[in-house]
Amino acid sequence: MPVPELLVKNLKVSFSTSKKELIAVRGISYQLNQGEILALVGESGCGKTVSALSILRLIQEPPGKIVSGEIIFAGKDLLKLKKKELQGLRGKDIAMIFQDPMTSLNPVLTIGEQIIETLLRHTSLSRKKAREKSFRLLEQVEIPSPLQKLDQYPHQLSGGMRQRAMIAIALSCSPRILIADEPTTALDVLIQAQILSLLKKIKKDTQMSILLITHDLGVVAEVAGRVMVMYAGEIVESGSVNDLFRSPLHPYTIGLMESIPTLESTQQKLSKLKEISGTVPSLSQVPFGCPFHPRCPTAETRCKTDKPKFKEISKTHSVNCWLH
Ligand code: SF4
Repeated sequence: MPVPELLVKNLKVSFSTSKKELIAVRGISYQLNQGEILALVGESGCGKTVSALSILRLIQEPPGKIVSGEIIFAGKDLLKLKKKELQGLRGKDIAMIFQDPMTSLNPVLTIGEQIIETLLRHTSLSRKKAREKSFRLLEQVEIPSPLQKLDQYPHQLSGGMRQRAMIAIALSCSPRILIADEPTTALDVLIQAQILSLLKKIKKDTQMSILLITHDLGVVAEVAGRVMVMYAGEIVESGSVNDLFRSPLHPYTIGLMESIPTLESTQQKLSKLKEISGTVPSLSQVPFGCPFHPRCPTAETRCKTDKPKFKEISKTHSVNCWLH
């Protein structure tokens, strides 16, 4: 029986402009279970990163605002915590890694100093013990010559090594949850495979829960156990990886699957590759009814006026579409 580590209930996030309030996340609910990798998938602008940043209240307010909802972790609603309580939890219980480590790492501090800093902030370790632990963390993320890398600066490391260093910092306080926002997007295919296999190993060794934000279904298939597909600020389908890859139900998920290049499609002509017509709606022009209806090949009349409700198809598989 899965044990929930994080519960997100009816989360709604908006951004205000001089003209109006734009809703980026429209009341999403889900749970992240202990020791699982849960992927949140969708095109750019669908709200996946905004919803992940909201967990640690990292949305810049204003213009951003968490309008409503609850995010329950360790029996507490993170949206109601005082700033100081939240700071104590960031990096310690819930850690985050981003697409470009260069923007998250401090360029004027060595990798070792950055891990030591995190350890000194959140634990009672002495500086000497913190340095020893930093060395072990670099070993854990399989950085070659860890002793030497401790004293190097971020610019002296390759992109893959920098991402490993970021993961080492994230793991330093043994968090219960790791939020990984497009952790492999900036890396080449070989390094991407190594980082994904490292995330799988960490999950297996530590039973950590990982929320993986990605636009890449190949990454999902490689590491995740469950998937949620997001479109226009809503979750439109969720299920196990098997459910979604073997029998996708939502026309958007089906479109995403069909647009994955296969060996056959690349050997033939790229024109054979299917695409989802149209583009993701802008936040100021989300269509009425089902937000996917202008792009949906199977839209019915009611899709333009009535919003579908999330429906459970099986214990593991749910979809938000009138066809089901
Ligand atoms: Fe398509 Fe209608 Fe289903 Fe939306 S509700 S995905 S428009 S069939």
